[in-house]
Amino acid sequence: MAIERTLAIIKPDAVGRGLAGDIIKRIEGAGLRVRAMRLMRLGRAQAEAFYEVHKARPFYGSLCEYMSSGPVVVIALEADGAIARWRELMGATDPVKAAPGTIRKEFGMNVEQNATHGSDAPETAAREVAFFFSSLDIVA
Ligand code: ATP
Ligand code: MG
Repeated sequence: MAIERTLAIIKPDAVGRGLAGDIIKRIEGAGLRVRAMRLMRLGRAQAEAFYEVHKARPFYGSLCEYMSSGPVVVIALEADGAIARWRELMGATDPVKAAPGTIRKEFGMNVEQNATHGSDAPETAAREVAFFFSSLDIVA
């Protein structure tokens, strides 16, 4: 594996229920290194731009509404194989289908309000980290 960066988002449902600390604890416990982190609220237009790849999906409007409904925590993670390792820790998109012990299984509400986001490939990770962080924000 190679050292990778990936973007994690603790979504509004999880921040709103006070789960950010628990989720960051799992991230650190799994050996994923936090390189940048910010609490923020996405505007509707920012959520739409971030999820542009899902524009044609039926859930796009609802997803953007939800992602701009309350604060999120955006995190740049770094580790050997960080992209796949973070997605494994999150579990499947739908909490009902996620493996036991995963973040989405334990904390997700439903297929939309599923607690966390993770980049799915090196190209999307680079785009998504750069969407939220400048190179000056990333702690070496
Ligand atoms: P993410 O990109 O947030 O890490 P993912 O890669 O597992 O999740 P995607 O297919 O990229 O899943 O979907 C992006 C997000 O859109 C999901 O995390 C979820 O919040 C929402 N979503 C996905 N499928 C549905 C659906 N069928 N109905 C409602 N919302 C959905
Ligand atoms: Mg995705």
